Amino acid sequence: MPNSVLLMLNQPSADAPPHLVGAPTFALVDPALPQVSALDLGVTRGDGVFETIGVGDGHPQALEHHLRRFARSAAALDLPTPDSDVWRTAILAAIAELGAVPESSVKTVLTRGVEGDGRPTGWVHASLGADYDSARVDGLRVVMLDRGYRHDVEQTSPWLLAGAKTLSYAINRSVLREAARRSADDVIFVSSDGFVLEGPTSTVVYRSGDRLLTPGTGLGILEGTTQSSIFQWAESLGLGTGFERATPETLRQADAAWLVSSVRLAAPVRELDGMPFPVDHALSAGMNAHLLGLRE
Ligand code: PLP
Repeated sequence: MPNSVLLMLNQPSADAPPHLVGAPTFALVDPALPQVSALDLGVTRGDGVFETIGVGDGHPQALEHHLRRFARSAAALDLPTPDSDVWRTAILAAIAELGAVPESSVKTVLTRGVEGDGRPTGWVHASLGADYDSARVDGLRVVMLDRGYRHDVEQTSPWLLAGAKTLSYAINRSVLREAARRSADDVIFVSSDGFVLEGPTSTVVYRSGDRLLTPGTGLGILEGTTQSSIFQWAESLGLGTGFERATPETLRQADAAWLVSSVRLAAPVRELDGMPFPVDHALSAGMNAHLLGLRE
């Protein structure tokens, strides 16, 4: 069984010409060999978008939700619209090639391509999952860091692309190094005017009494597919759910909090800004069992 599978798409968008007229939809290539030009704008400028999709026993989770978000991110960057049928076919083919394993993930990438060429580059990479047991069970030490933008940046300055899943994730990685310098594992971004936003690769969910809450959209943050699955599950159990703006103080007063995302799933916060934070082990276990059991 391969450790990872890479498919290069011939025509990632119906709005732009194919790379090779008449070629198949995608080519299975060796992930260990170079496949993308050093002149590709995705490489030289991070000018592109991506999605990471969790896969359980060969079933991609929330696939249509991810495909819609992929198209929304592409639209925010004025990229050619990804052809959902082509991407869905390639994603399912990559998963089938990898084989049914309990946990894996698929990354889809669409870049603007080589400057002046007019053909976007697209690929699908499926790989085996890492071991997230410690994050899911024991939890994370989290620090809150200023993102440097106001909460309304999406409305005032859409060109900053807040809320789009772009390839420019250098900041989303640098904050993890800052977290490590502060003896923490992960980060919650706070807007410059004092509202809780999101993690660098996750959505913030917290429990207040018998309600699960999240800061919600319109704050220049990504609309989370995992948060959406968790809310549906919580509602089926009779828990309340809601989108509410929160300040760091609201979060500090919460009964429990999680950073949730497609591959690591629900990771409880066990320490916030160096202070012990309550972990709801039963709800964490329930969330993760539900997410692991999802088949679509
Ligand atoms: N926010 C950001 C910035 C992310 O990068 C991610 C996922 O990578 C999320 C939130 C969570 O989204 P999802 O639950 O769809 O994985």
